[in-house]
Parts: sequence; structure tokens; C-alpha cells
Amino acid sequence: MLNIILFGPPGAGKGTQSERLIKKYGLCHISTGDLFRWHTKNDTDLGQRVKEIINSGQLVSDDITIAMLKEEVEKNPGASGFLFDGFPRTVDQAKALDTLMESMNTAIHAVIELKVTEEEVRQRIAKRKELENRADDASDKLDRRIGEYFNKTVHVLPFYDAQGRLSTVNGIGNIDDIFSEIDKTVSALKV
Ligand code: ADP
Repeated sequence: MLNIILFGPPGAGKGTQSERLIKKYGLCHISTGDLFRWHTKNDTDLGQRVKEIINSGQLVSDDITIAMLKEEVEKNPGASGFLFDGFPRTVDQAKALDTLMESMNTAIHAVIELKVTEEEVRQRIAKRKELENRADDASDKLDRRIGEYFNKTVHVLPFYDAQGRLSTVNGIGNIDDIFSEIDKTVSALKV
């Protein structure tokens, strides 16, 4: 199996680059943000529990997020690998993911950080707001999401770096060039 995490702030381009990676490597894409949006849109029990938190731009609790992620991984027993997008966002989530991978006799092989400045992120999301109309892209909520990333989520990076699993790619520039940088890292992995 080949298991990768794509990491970066809101608006870093994780969605765009994920699409290309899953196509090229045949990976199963798991985006916790997409899953939470699906649950809120379909008004499931889980959706009702997390709706307010998500719309305010805060992180959902680890318990809820990890349980949802685990269920999604277990729904895809035949996958040749996973691409995690938007997960983990805390060190406890990262540890839970390692445990899950171990239980499947596999591991997270690489964490790819798309490095983008806060200013660039704000400009990109302002543009996306006109096209997509996501409730959590409104400016006060957006500040929260960006704050959650730069205050909390970044602490996951040293956890992976200490184990030699982190690669950083410049997320500003041409989409194709960024993909080829990511691809260099992925194709060099010996799994
Ligand atoms: P962003 O564009 O901010 O990266 P996502 O689409 O990945 O957002 O996620 C949207 C929202 O879903 C987050 O603001 C958060 O409330 C919730 N969420 C997604 N993934 C996680 C996670 N791993 N842990 C906690 N909350 C999460």
C-alpha cells in the first residue's frame, strides 16, 4: 500500500493536487472536510452534531473526527492506498492514524506539506468565495479556520519531521509545477 497525507492551510490547493495524485497512483481519497460537509448536507446524526462547529470555523473534536475517519478507511478494505486530506489536524489524530495503519499492517509513508503564506491563502479564499459559497468562507469564520491552522494544526508537522516522514513543497506557483514537485517526492518513496 501507499499512504500519503497532503497537509496545508485552508486554500493551499490540497483539493486540486489530491485529484491529480489519486488519478496517477490509484489512491482512495479521504477528505475529512468533504465527509463533514456530506454529513451536514444530508442532515445525518453526525451532521447535526458538527454543523455549528464547522460553520464557525473551529475544529471538530478528535473523538468524532477519528471515529468518522476510521469508519471511512474500513469501508475501503481493497484500497491500494489512501490519500488523507485535511487529516490529521492534531497530534492525537496523527497518533490515532498511525495506530490504524499499523492494525492494517501498513503505515503512513509520507506527509507532504504544501507551504503557502497566510496572505496568499486569504487572497485565494476570497476568490473561491465568489464561486463556491461555502458557509465557513465568510470572513470572521475564515479568520478562525486560518487561526486554527496556524495555531494548532502546524504542531503536527514536527511530529512527522522528527520521524523523517515530512516533505515540504512550495505551494505557490503554477499548478503543474507544484504537482511535479509533489510527484517527485511520491515516486521516490520506497514502499
Ligand atoms: P479547510 O478549507 O479549512 O482546510 P476542510 O474542508 O478541510 O477545511 O474542513 C472544513 C471543516 O471541517 C474544518 O474547518 C473543521 O471544522 C472540520 N474538519 C475537517 N477535518 C478536520 C479534522 N481532521 N479535525 C477536526 N475538524 C476537522
